[in-house]
Amino acid sequence: MAQTKLNDVTKIFTEDDGNEIVAVDDVSIDIEDGEFLVLVGPSGCGKSTTLRMVAGLETISSGEITLDDRVINDTPAKDRDIAMVFQSYALYPHMTVGENMSFGLEESTDLEDDEISERVEETATMMGIEELLDRKPGELSGGQQQRVALGRAIVRDPAVFLMDEPLSNLDAKLRAEMRTELQRLQEELDTTTVYVTHDQTEAMTMGDRVAILNDGTLQQIGTPLNCYHRPANLFVAGFVGEPSMNFIDMERHDEAGTTVLHADLFEYPISDELATELGDSSDLVLGIRPEDIEISTDSPSGEHDIEATIDVIEPMGDENIVYLQFENDDTSLERESIIATVGGMRQFESGQTVTAHIPEGAIHIFDGSTGEALH
Ligand code: ATP
Repeated sequence: MAQTKLNDVTKIFTEDDGNEIVAVDDVSIDIEDGEFLVLVGPSGCGKSTTLRMVAGLETISSGEITLDDRVINDTPAKDRDIAMVFQSYALYPHMTVGENMSFGLEESTDLEDDEISERVEETATMMGIEELLDRKPGELSGGQQQRVALGRAIVRDPAVFLMDEPLSNLDAKLRAEMRTELQRLQEELDTTTVYVTHDQTEAMTMGDRVAILNDGTLQQIGTPLNCYHRPANLFVAGFVGEPSMNFIDMERHDEAGTTVLHADLFEYPISDELATELGDSSDLVLGIRPEDIEISTDSPSGEHDIEATIDVIEPMGDENIVYLQFENDDTSLERESIIATVGGMRQFESGQTVTAHIPEGAIHIFDGSTGEALH
């Protein structure tokens, strides 16, 4: 049983010239026992600092971190029952693989030597590195070093694993393999894991839940599907999903009993229910995911059909990424472009005039000034 909680945790670094950097700003997260939680966000958003505070490698400026209701703010890293895996692997170069794995157990447990060897061998077998136990890290490939680093964490049987971009030094193929293997291992061991990455695909495919950070603040925490389908704000909506959600600035106009969202290049009437849901904001952003836009060669016929020109098509194999432009006779207006994805078998050409259908059931709407999701 290991429930880890961050309560209003803040980290402020003070630079030599006295300048303060708020790296983590009032973050609260409840990490469930056995959960695989991914901390994700762009470079500099505070992921590593958050993880390092949980590990005890960084002091906490304010707030509380608890492990099973015990406050661990001042508990030294070695007494936290937490094992950390780093991007750089951080193996001891002068020790063999076996020694790297047994070292922590010798230092921090009362286990007998033969028990330690047994655990090291068991874990090495689990990680497929039993043949490498007598080698030094310098004699291993990057992928093998990564397995040793993971094995060294697993052999300690900690309450929590913390992993800081552990796969980012591996090539794409190995990274994909290790992702699946890590998930399998985590399920098998059922140990609470907090995993840091800046890669939203990795976060979305690996996490039971993802915690999305930006500028030191927690933007949303939830299952990958929940964050994808119900993003809390513009940041999350734009961060999650590839290619990114399209955003179009719109103004709300209520005219003769109907509500129309108005952009320079097109108008988008909305239902009464949706108009009521949006409240009073008039400055809005319409969000539509590329895969939710339907493209056809028919003429526009419905109120959510917009004529567009195909600018560029990028074939991706199973799908095509289509860059569409809405144009207007008024040349003073900037051309607005959006991205749609269509099945790889669909035949379109650049320069072609098409109809883009933006179904009301698929749109997201955000408050233009606060960025908060309204629908
Ligand atoms: P990356 O993905 O690039 O590793 P990150 O999300 O892990 O980024 P952090 O390393 O946690 O971000 O850094 C958060 C902020 O804190 C950044 O602005 C960073 O420059 C700053 N920071 C981190 N460590 C220190 C430090 N020791 N002293 C001063 N500022 C720091």
